[in-house]
Amino acid sequence: MNKSTLTFLGRDSGFGNKNNSAYFETTDKLTLIDCGCTVFHEVIKKFNLSKYSAIEIVITHLHNDHAGSLSQLILYLWFVLNKKATIVSKCEYIKQYLDITGTPANIYELKNSLPNLTFIKTEHTPFLDSYGFLANFNNKQIIYTGDTNTLSPFSTYLQNCDELYIDVSKFGGAHIKIDDVLDTLKQLHNNNVDIYLMHIDDKEYIKTITNNEFNYE
Ligand SMILES: [Zn+2]
Ligand SMILES: [Zn+2]
Repeated sequence: MNKSTLTFLGRDSGFGNKNNSAYFETTDKLTLIDCGCTVFHEVIKKFNLSKYSAIEIVITHLHNDHAGSLSQLILYLWFVLNKKATIVSKCEYIKQYLDITGTPANIYELKNSLPNLTFIKTEHTPFLDSYGFLANFNNKQIIYTGDTNTLSPFSTYLQNCDELYIDVSKFGGAHIKIDDVLDTLKQLHNNNVDIYLMHIDDKEYIKTITNNEFNYE
């Protein structure tokens, strides 16, 4: 298996110890994907944040396991490191969310896409506006589903991507039921798409049903 372009800080489902989050890093820029409750402490432990000239934080949706420490990180970057974070999100209430958690609009920049990243709307729960995205990092075409209960918003892009980061679940519901996409994943894998499973609720079940064929940790 090739090394993944994104590195995970955590791949747990909503109530796990390490919220689902990943990052891509160059010498002077950090792009963080989601910032759930457990992520702030992971980030300040792991990175020397003062070395980056740009810090982008991509937010797929506003569940706490994806945005629960976002305000904390923005405030820390501003007040402790004098840095203005760039928040990249299309979520309907992102600005209100930051307002009510005491994050003044002048200490961050808000964008709804990046030159190398485009959001794709997904179906996750009727209560939240949720997105995955298509991105290019390191000349790799990446699909990152975010939390979704269907792969269909991505179907036209799947065959042409290099790496697929996909939300999978034993139980389905608000997430993709692994049993429903196994054949698709096998076909993509045979077509040289690297598959990375994430937001994992039952590791043993997923390991068994996928025959340990895809990367999940
Ligand atoms: Zn989640
Ligand atoms: Zn969610």
